[in-house]
Parts: sequence; structure tokens; C-alpha cells
Amino acid sequence: VLILAVESSCDETAAAVVKNGLDVLSNIVASQIDLHRKYGGVVPEIASRKHLELINPVIEEALQTARVTYDQIDGVAATYGPGLVGGLLVGLSAAKALAYVLHKPFIGVNHIAGHIYANFISNPQIEPPVVCLTISGGHTDLLYFKELGDYQILGRSRDDAAGEAFDKIARVLEIGYPGGPAVEKISKEGDPVAVDFPRPFINEDNYDFSFSGLKTAVINYIHNQKQKGKKLHIPDIAASFQQAVIDVLLNKVMKAVQEREVKSVILSGGVAANKTLRQQLSMALAEKDLPLYTPLLKLCTDNAAMIGAAAYYQYQKGDFAPFSLGAAANLSLK
Ligand code: ATP
Ligand code: MG
Ligand code: FE
Repeated sequence: VLILAVESSCDETAAAVVKNGLDVLSNIVASQIDLHRKYGGVVPEIASRKHLELINPVIEEALQTARVTYDQIDGVAATYGPGLVGGLLVGLSAAKALAYVLHKPFIGVNHIAGHIYANFISNPQIEPPVVCLTISGGHTDLLYFKELGDYQILGRSRDDAAGEAFDKIARVLEIGYPGGPAVEKISKEGDPVAVDFPRPFINEDNYDFSFSGLKTAVINYIHNQKQKGKKLHIPDIAASFQQAVIDVLLNKVMKAVQEREVKSVILSGGVAANKTLRQQLSMALAEKDLPLYTPLLKLCTDNAAMIGAAAYYQYQKGDFAPFSLGAAANLSLK
């Protein structure tokens, strides 16, 4: 089964051709990072215009790279939420139009499900039951999969997402955009125990997260140091902040694997690209003889291959969408 998939929920215009949910024949990502850098974040209006410009060439390139023609495609998929409504509409309309003229099923995919399914491309050997931590720019969700198609939400962030916290702290520290990779890089030169930032919710008996208090603590710390006339040691602050985030994430994952029957743990979303987190979590899990699976780095952040993988499982169930399917900016996992 060949799926042509489109992703345009944020600031990457992406298209991919994926065979049977596993084989990525092409994965084209046109990132707008450079365009938004000077604003320190994604500007929705600029993003949707750029998507409009790029969507057709990116789809063409995905087909050409895969050496596949339009009539070989079995289904056309697009992200319909969550994300920025203008961007979503561009990808969704392009995918619907293609499905319509090709007389092929149209599949609407939840972007967060896509992040999760990126794992199955990279690690087809994953065995349920699985604990899955999804950590991205807009989401921090801890999920439990009894079977691969059947999950339960254990907990989520009550305020900021993990990636959002990285992005905001990077902005305050003025170390670059996007924030996650910038914090990770500069943290290598810092001491993670230099500043004792709070670990919100770490000992609470639930699977929820909160990162806005940690963000405020970092901002207050910077402010106080400046007032005292002290020089800021940016690598130490970044490393200490990063460690506080990792400690909380790690703690909740370990709580979940202790309280449930689990065969493996998977990470997904942009923050899953963080190597320090990957290392610490896989070491903690190794003590319990549990493997940690992560998507390939380029499949962690936004891409269309992950949408094509999720769409394949929907295709198999006959879970097709009508052409009336609209963009759902606040779509959540059910
Ligand atoms: P969502 O998927 O929730 O709609 P999004 O699509 O914007 O949000 P992703 O593309 O999955 O999010 O991930 C981007 C986020 O990942 C950003 O917040 C970015 O800072 C963060 N990120 C990327 N690389 C790293 C890293 N190495 N360490 C920490 N965070 C990272
Ligand atoms: Mg992005
Ligand atoms: Fe994403």
C-alpha cells in the first residue's frame, strides 16, 4: 500500500511517500525555520503563505524522489490538526484535491498520532504493552498502549509543553532559535547541578506535568542574578534547566513502568531528539531490562513520513475521511 502524505501544521511544509507504514520511499521537508528566526517564533500568517508557495513543489519532489507516479498511489493523507489553522488548510486542501482527482481514499491524520507512529518506522520490532512519552512544541502526553491501536492517556501537561519551555528559556537566554537544540548544545559546557531549579509535580501521585512554574523560576533566577550585579553563566543555567525537565520526565515514565505491565518505552515528538534525555532515560530503563525506542532524529521533528505511517494503520481499518473534513486547530488525542 502506497500512501502519499502531507504535513503542514506548523512551520514545515512536508510530503512523503510511505509503503506499508514502514518503508519511507521519500520524505521531503521544507523548513521555514530561517524565515521565522528573526521573530523568535512561528508567525502564523507568514507560515501559511509560505506553505501555499511550497506545497505543490514539495509534493512533486516527494513523488519524484520515490520514483512513483500519481496513479500508483493508493491513498492520500494529510494532517488535519492540531496546529495552525492556516497551515493545516493548505495541506488539507492539497491532499483532498489529489484524492478527489485520483479517485483514491482520503485519510485525515492527527499530528500527534503521527509523532507516535514515527517510532514504528524506525523500530518495527516494538512490542506492546508500551508506555509512550510524547514531548513536542505543543504537547507533553504520557500514554499507555495495551495494543498498538489502543491507547489510554495517563497524564499530560497542565500548562506549557516541554518543547515550549525549551523554546522560551532559549529566548530568555538569547542563545538561538529553535530553543531545544540551542539549549542542548550550550548545556554541554554547563554544570547540570549548578542551579537548583524546581521539579514541578515530580513527587505527586499522578502522571501530569507542569512546566510554566519552572520557566518562571528560571526567569526569576536570571532577574535576581542581574539585580545583584552578578554575571550570568549561561551554560550552567541552560544545563540546570534541561536537567530539571529531564528529571521530571524520567520520573513519570519510571512511575508508569513500575505501576503497569510494560514491554517497552517509546519517545516521540521534537524533544525526543534530545540526546541527554535519551541517554538518561535508556540507562534508567536498562536497570529494569526495558528497551527505550526512539524515532530516527529526522523523524522526531515535524515530517510527513510519520503522517504516512499513521495513515497506513487507518487505511487498513478503512478509516477514511469525507472531503468535508475541516482543519481542527485544537484536535487532541482521544
Ligand atoms: P506539536 O507537535 O505539539 O504540534 P510542534 O510540531 O511545533 O508541536 P515538534 O516539531 O514535534 O513540535 O517539535 C519541535 C519542538 O521540539 C520545539 O519546541 C523544539 O525546541 C523541540 N526540540 C527539538 N530538538 C530538541 C532537542 N534536541 N532538545 C530539546 N528540545 C528539542
Ligand atoms: Mg516545527
Ligand atoms: Fe509536531
